[in-house]
Amino acid sequence: MKKRVFSGTRATGRLHLGNYLGAVKGYLELQNDLNYETIYMVMDLHAITTPFDNKTLSQNTKDVVMDYLACGLDPEKSIITAQSLVQEHTYLAQILSSEITVARMQHLPTFKDKVKQYPKSVTIALLNYPVLMAADILLYKASLVPVGIDQEPHLEVAREIARKMNEKYGTDFPEPKRFSTKGEYIPSLSGEGKMSKSIEGSFINITDDLETIKKRLASAPTDEGRGDTVPKEGGVANLLTFVELFEGEEKRNKYEKDYIKDGIRYGDLKTELAEAIYEELKPIQEKRKEFENNPSKVDEIIKEGAQKASKIAKETIKEVKGKIGLI
Ligand code: ADP
Repeated sequence: MKKRVFSGTRATGRLHLGNYLGAVKGYLELQNDLNYETIYMVMDLHAITTPFDNKTLSQNTKDVVMDYLACGLDPEKSIITAQSLVQEHTYLAQILSSEITVARMQHLPTFKDKVKQYPKSVTIALLNYPVLMAADILLYKASLVPVGIDQEPHLEVAREIARKMNEKYGTDFPEPKRFSTKGEYIPSLSGEGKMSKSIEGSFINITDDLETIKKRLASAPTDEGRGDTVPKEGGVANLLTFVELFEGEEKRNKYEKDYIKDGIRYGDLKTELAEAIYEELKPIQEKRKEFENNPSKVDEIIKEGAQKASKIAKETIKEVKGKIGLI
């Protein structure tokens, strides 16, 4: 049997470069590897664990599906759908939540970050986020999960739960491993932390046009452009990471030499970088237009994906219910 792969992105806005390089590039690599059966979803139930707008949620979900398709996810090769259409995710999450303590969840760095970000919305759903994610993965008995490095603590929870279930009830959940890409940690444009769609000024979306990319890069912090050593963190270090990712290592080395010798002109660096980023995004944006003009095709892909996913999900639930004694 082929090994299964599961991953997803929350329906909280357009995909940004962090999602694209850290996750979607991994989705594509595994989709095109015949050794794997790949399942990629838009996580709308995860999206409602933090404050959200009920008027835009379903369109956000479709927007992420369109971003996926534009990046090259192919419904002929992967199951592509929305999480909430497969109700077994929440059913399994309820069962798995008996296998992990509140204290373990409260100590997760990802939970602490979200508490800081949304101090007025520390809900049970937020605390339970990693359990729902464990259910997403274990429901399909996936052994590989292409996600950014920020998700590693959640994968550890999924492995712990899988181990416990297997030991206590004799299930056969694989312990899921992270599949990493070169862009497993894309830094924020602001110079601090990771690129994230919930942090304004941190991201470039894959649907941004050249002018928008230039504008976003223009507000990235820099310094006077020269010094004895090249900064290892902060705005300049992050810009150089983007240079390496989009213009190559040689270009980065050139700028590093300039920094120590003649100085860097950030205006020129940012213009060149914006053009390189746009060059990579242009074909994705063109492909996206085809789907924007054909929304019923997108709906159909989501519906068919849900049917295929439900078939696998139902089998797992039947098996788990039997093992733990639910009627
Ligand atoms: P966000 O943090 O922007 O809300 P999600 O939590 O929906 O994004 O993450 C979707 C996927 O994108 C996950 O696999 C996550 O690990 C990956 N990802 C998000 N931000 C980054 C980043 N800055 N660098 C690398 N991968 C990222």
